[in-house]
Amino acid sequence: MYSYGGKIEGGLSMKTSVKKSAQEIYPISLPTPFLVGPVNTYLIKGEALTLVDTGPFTKETETKLEYELGVLGFSMKDIELVILTHHHPDHIGLVHKFMPYAKIAGHPKLKPWLKKDKDFLERTMEFYTEMYFSHGVPEKWIKKMRQKNEQFMTFTEKAELSTELTEGSQIEGLSGWTVMETPGHAQSHISLFREKDGTMIAGDHVIEHISSNAIIEAPYQHGEERPKTLLQYRDSLKRCLTSNYIYSGHGKTIENPKELIQKRLDDQLGKAFSFKRKMGKGPIQVFDLCKEVYPQLYQKQTSLTFSETLGHLDLLEEKSEVGWEKVDGKILYQVK
Ligand SMILES: [Zn+2]
Repeated sequence: MYSYGGKIEGGLSMKTSVKKSAQEIYPISLPTPFLVGPVNTYLIKGEALTLVDTGPFTKETETKLEYELGVLGFSMKDIELVILTHHHPDHIGLVHKFMPYAKIAGHPKLKPWLKKDKDFLERTMEFYTEMYFSHGVPEKWIKKMRQKNEQFMTFTEKAELSTELTEGSQIEGLSGWTVMETPGHAQSHISLFREKDGTMIAGDHVIEHISSNAIIEAPYQHGEERPKTLLQYRDSLKRCLTSNYIYSGHGKTIENPKELIQKRLDDQLGKAFSFKRKMGKGPIQVFDLCKEVYPQLYQKQTSLTFSETLGHLDLLEEKSEVGWEKVDGKILYQVK
């Protein structure tokens, strides 16, 4: 329980205490320096005053967050619980600012990202370098992607997780919500589900105006295979068909999630077959196919277009439409 003063729904300005059942959700849109545009964070008045995601570590974002919390009658110091949906900088960047006062909760896979664990980050970089090389990406592009990754990391600061949330976790301070692991867009991704009314806070798992990218990531344990992120993503999407209302990490809230999710699943299949048509007869490397499908975009968004291409090839492979072999360290795909 806690007190707050400020504007509440209905336009009344008053000071009152929040009842356990109130749990109003207040979207707070924050600027980011990234192509995706503003990010949505959410203030929830549960038993603990909760913020879902924080926005990136920039002065502009922090100032806006302080201002928006102020409008609602709070300061950053009032936040008692921060829940992070996934490890991307536009969602976790400012979390260190809350560490002295709040519990920080998220999936255990957030930990090495929050800590900026040197070994983990080096291993991840090595994985990307080797993977890109085997799929025909020239050195120049690999270097550019590495630089971009390093730049992204400057929008976060070191922080630590105090509460681990995994599949089925109930959240202390936020009763009625259950954690759902929704890997695909990110391996650390979780969504929050309120069974009572089918409301979901889904981070970047479902976005109305863009299809979320199932970004290729390194395995967390040395020697493991890379996760097939688009296949994971599709499984995670199917699990959200029961939701009635989705608060998203970017853009509008989604009022008809079932329809949107079904469309995303169908579109992915359609896209996979359009990739297959572009493959032609001969063996082809992922990067050559990527350039064929995204002749302009691959130059600006190399890692995202690469993830799209490899992800849809994983989907075609699962459907036994394509196969691959490794010849002299290079992976070649072929239509079956
Ligand atoms: Zn993201």
